[in-house]
Amino acid sequence: MTANIKVAERKCYINGQFVRSGRQFAKINPVDGTVVAQVHEADRAMVDAAVRGARAALKGPWGRMALQARVDLLRKIAEGIEKRFDDFLQAEVADTGKPVSLASHLDIPRGAANFRVFADIVRTYGTESYHLDTPDGKGAVNYAMRKPLGVVGVIAPWNLPLLLLTWKLAPALACGNTIVAKPSEETPSTATLLAEVMHEAGVPAGVYNVVHGFGPDSAGEFITAHPDVNGITFTGETATGAAIMKAVAPTVKPISFELGGKNPGIVFADCDFEAAVAGMSNAIFSNTGQVCLAPERVYVERPIFERFVAALKANAEALVLGFPQDKATNMGPLISRQHREKVLSYYELARKEGAKVVTGGGVPKFGDARDSGAWIQPTLWTGLPETARTVREEIFGPCAHIAPFDREEEAVEMANNTPYGLASTVWTTNLARGHRVGQAMEVGISWVNCWFLRDLRTPFGGAKLSGIGREGGLHSLNFYSEPTNICVKL
Ligand code: NAD
Repeated sequence: MTANIKVAERKCYINGQFVRSGRQFAKINPVDGTVVAQVHEADRAMVDAAVRGARAALKGPWGRMALQARVDLLRKIAEGIEKRFDDFLQAEVADTGKPVSLASHLDIPRGAANFRVFADIVRTYGTESYHLDTPDGKGAVNYAMRKPLGVVGVIAPWNLPLLLLTWKLAPALACGNTIVAKPSEETPSTATLLAEVMHEAGVPAGVYNVVHGFGPDSAGEFITAHPDVNGITFTGETATGAAIMKAVAPTVKPISFELGGKNPGIVFADCDFEAAVAGMSNAIFSNTGQVCLAPERVYVERPIFERFVAALKANAEALVLGFPQDKATNMGPLISRQHREKVLSYYELARKEGAKVVTGGGVPKFGDARDSGAWIQPTLWTGLPETARTVREEIFGPCAHIAPFDREEEAVEMANNTPYGLASTVWTTNLARGHRVGQAMEVGISWVNCWFLRDLRTPFGGAKLSGIGREGGLHSLNFYSEPTNICVKL
């Protein structure tokens, strides 16, 4: 149950101090509609103070810190998250309503792991060097060195709050940057707890700042438009990315964008049927479908179409929409009533566009506190044309449209016929086909017989409208640092 969670106060963290503001907003628990936190919204002056603190820290002990000391601090932060695992877990669950079973296996462990991964990778990060011949025969040595970008603005979404925030923070800190972070207004808590962990770990004042608030005319925009912020890393909707591009244009900052998707799944008749059903069910419904990588378009080869739809329907109907702490729960609510309105508008649109509703399509009734939350039924459709908005636009809910196909080329064409290009998942036991179709996907990450699995050193990001740049491993370090080319005449 969630009713006994007391209302937390989430302050901003600016230049090493926890700071209140004159304006607060309430964070609502989507499980039952109760207030779980009062959040201090940063005004422009507070964002300015955070940027000033971050700038000063670049010149202070942080800027002079040896790489090994920085690496040790990253490891200490990972340990700090693990020491306060239950606090992080409770805060993340209260903000998002996601099942404890999910957050305890994914969100919080990955939050800690991100710091360890980048502590390791930064130690192996080298640069190029060349010997040049010169007319006088003495030669020159030409090498590059990497410096931090400076003050990095980190803007994060609400679906995997700690995981996605630390995915950006860890490499940015590993490279020696300082941070002004804005978590989503829907998930202010774990970013604030992380400030406590950093504080205790001895991270110098100004290195990590948290400013709470919204996007336009609030902390988000104040960061992106700030002339003294040197780079922006953002995960969120494509439309928000476009707004941020405009905001950063006058101050010409580098950007790294991980944006939306409308991801395809392709299931061939030669797949391992049970594995494909389990894999696709997990991919569609995990985190209530609020995963940027989730497939909302599923293409199934005709000979197994009816059987596959029936199996997905059975899995959707077996999902347990329960209180986060209940062990049997495997699906939580959406993040908010507002987001539910958006997803429900697509449930309505699908009907208008002529979909056959295979299962779901509405709001579940519980007869308890959950009726005040943001719950929604897992939903599957068939029968829509590829031109339907339901098939083309990102919904970000526990839903998918399933369509049959007859030929491999047809499936590839339909899968790629989208302005997005984040991820895809292909299911087949034919090795050559797996590679062939996997490679033909116009996406940043293409899975074959799996989903979400990834070595954190590999590139992650989106093609087309799904992003700009790649993060992960050395790709992150390349973004969060800037090379200086040095040529020394001998
Ligand atoms: P969102 O774009 O609404 O918000 C993301 C963040 O941007 C929030 O912190 C928000 O306050 C801030 N923001 C909003 N407007 C802003 C502005 N004008 N200037 C500066 N900041 C602004 O996204 P969301 O609803 O939090 O997250 C869901 C979206 O994120 C989906 O589209 C999903 O696909 C995408 N996403 C992508 C990835 C990826 O890796 N590609 C991962 C997770 C989520």
